[in-house]
Amino acid sequence: MPRYTDDSKERVRDAVDMIDLVSARTELRRAGANSYQGLCPFHDERTPSFGIDPVKKVYHCFGCGSGGDVFRFVQETEGVDFQGALELLADRYAVELEVEDEDPRTAARRRRRERLYALLERYAAYYARYLWEAAEAADARAYVAARGLDEATLRRFRVGYAASAWDHMYTRSRSAGFSDEELLAAGVVQRSRERGTLYDRFRGRLTFPL
Ligand SMILES: [Zn+2]
Repeated sequence: MPRYTDDSKERVRDAVDMIDLVSARTELRRAGANSYQGLCPFHDERTPSFGIDPVKKVYHCFGCGSGGDVFRFVQETEGVDFQGALELLADRYAVELEVEDEDPRTAARRRRRERLYALLERYAAYYARYLWEAAEAADARAYVAARGLDEATLRRFRVGYAASAWDHMYTRSRSAGFSDEELLAAGVVQRSRERGTLYDRFRGRLTFPL
């Protein structure tokens, strides 16, 4: 994957019309000098707790805690990574992206960092969903509710629940194309001393991403 210059990124940000971009997902109403409000596109609600600042080009939701800049918005709504969001916006707002020159070793190190980061991100997102959707996480949901922690806060901090099966995430990560070596380097699996096989390090418990 090419790496685009920081300058390209800023030119795309400058070119984006935040109101136009967000209006495709939710109806916005002016709520102040530099503020528009609407129903949050990221969670179900009847009264608006989602707002944007079209000058700073940022969004925030007080209901579910989602927030970020134009790139994050496209990542979240289109389900693409940062690079994908950058390319999509560059295309839509007709900005030409410039590729940075990199020596092969630096490029390899950067790719590895990106892979491991993507892997951890994948785990955090999966666990966060699992806490609210999995039958086996019912006790964990009851536990956090009894501790007085509300769902919006837990979602904001992406608290999750790791499945109890030994290879739940391991199997899924391998299918998604991650190698044993990458999974070990990221610290999400361990090697069994007796059998030499790999298994999930986090199982049957609440998880808190960094
Ligand atoms: Zn929201």
